[in-house]
Amino acid sequence: MSVRAKYYADWASAVLGVGLGLTVAIFLESTTRSDWAWPYPAIISVSRICALVGTYFALVGIVMVSRISWIERSVGHDKLVRWHRKLGPYALFLITFHVLLVALGYAGNEGLRIGGELWRMTRNYQWMLPAAVGFLFFVAAGVTSYKRVRSKMSYETWWTIHLYTYLAIALSYMHQVLTGPMFLNHPLNKYYWEGLYLLTAFTIIYWRVVIPVFRSFRHDLRVAEIVDEGSSVVSIVMRGHKLDRLNAQGGQFFSWRFMTKGQWWIAHPYSLSAAPTSEEMRVTVKNLGDASGAVKHLKPGTKVFFEGPFGIFTASKATKGLGHAVLVGGGVGITPLRALMEEFDPSVEVDVIFRAASEDDLVFKLELDELAEARGARVHYLMGSRKQHPMNASHIMKYVPAFRYSDVYVCGPTPLVDAVRAAALACGIPKERFHAEAFEFHAE
Ligand SMILES: Cc1cc2nc3c(=O)[nH]c(=O)nc-3n(C[C@H](O)[C@H](O)[C@H](O)COP(=O)(O)OP(=O)(O)OC[C@H]3O[C@@H](n4cnc5c(N)ncnc54)[C@H](O)[C@@H]3O)c2cc1C
Repeated sequence: MSVRAKYYADWASAVLGVGLGLTVAIFLESTTRSDWAWPYPAIISVSRICALVGTYFALVGIVMVSRISWIERSVGHDKLVRWHRKLGPYALFLITFHVLLVALGYAGNEGLRIGGELWRMTRNYQWMLPAAVGFLFFVAAGVTSYKRVRSKMSYETWWTIHLYTYLAIALSYMHQVLTGPMFLNHPLNKYYWEGLYLLTAFTIIYWRVVIPVFRSFRHDLRVAEIVDEGSSVVSIVMRGHKLDRLNAQGGQFFSWRFMTKGQWWIAHPYSLSAAPTSEEMRVTVKNLGDASGAVKHLKPGTKVFFEGPFGIFTASKATKGLGHAVLVGGGVGITPLRALMEEFDPSVEVDVIFRAASEDDLVFKLELDELAEARGARVHYLMGSRKQHPMNASHIMKYVPAFRYSDVYVCGPTPLVDAVRAAALACGIPKERFHAEAFEFHAE
């Protein structure tokens, strides 16, 4: 992490820490001695702190993936999604504890069974039914985000279920402020909580709706050309106005929404496969399913909505003054590396390793060779099986002896990324000099 990124990350952590502190403080401020009379009132009190902290984590988790551009630029999309995924289970468990403990506490107080108490609360308390529905949405989003469950469903199904978490959080709000003793007769606590919800709503609406829609209209991006690159791969050349204002760099990706029948409703991430200009951007897509297979039918003139740029897989993240970069691409993972090649300062020596199963899979061979000649880079084409090219340190150093003294960029299937990461580690390459992008479902 660069010094600037560390600075932002430290600030973000400090703000989140203060938020957590305030969340606990509003509970402590409103609790009384009688709330801790053992056992049932105490159980209800514990359930309340679970609800507050769980909801706080859920809100923070949403803000983490709300695409705030300066956070994305310094921390990186991958890392934010990873943090979001780490926080998600805590939010879910705490809110589930809240539901179970509050039912247990009230059931004990009133001498009812837990099921009966849940039913009574849902029917009698204000806004409890919407909160219960919200809880079910939240559980559905949590369960479908577990690797095993997720791998069994399509991205679209997972995404639609996940969208309901926004509704879940919104539905739970009213029961909190109308029935939670930390808010009743505690106007400051209520303002704080309202502020948190409003800030979250604003972040999502501004960064995920207003900014992308505004930019999409301002730059009026449209498909200009579809180029068949062979091996089920096509390039989409898009043209628009003043694209330099996006400050995009080769190696970054956007979420693209092609406004045509059957494709407009879901966005897909694709990396730039050439350094962007003020009028043109290009992505290169391998047919791996419905949407990626359909792009070859896009008509010139099709309007493109986009979110981005995202990612910190860029030449500007290379170590200053090191002077050597090794770019390792596997299959269609070569596309952002092709764009990156154009972005390095001419003083940086560049070696590209293109790992492919066979010669047929060498997309962009001509472009890579031309670019290499123009900037004095070397491209090593490694075709064949994993046995022939194990991609460990000694194998890589056969082609690039200066590997251990380089910045390493790798993009491709996870096994390739993992192998190169292990090779870098074995050579003692520090984490800051290893940059990876996996073309994988970043579950949010
Ligand atoms: C950061 C990033 C950059 C990428 N860049 C490129 C690129 O430059 N060129 C390229 O060919 N591919 C790229 N991909 C992969 C590409 O996004 C998927 O292949 C494509 O979205 C598959 O959609 P589908 O409907 O055709 O396939 P499906 O059959 O629906 O899915 C195939 C795989 O792609 C995943 N996937 C599907 N939709 C999405 C989505 N909206 N977001 C994330 N993952 C999804 C699925 O989970 C599954 O693992 C990139 C992926 C990521 C995460």
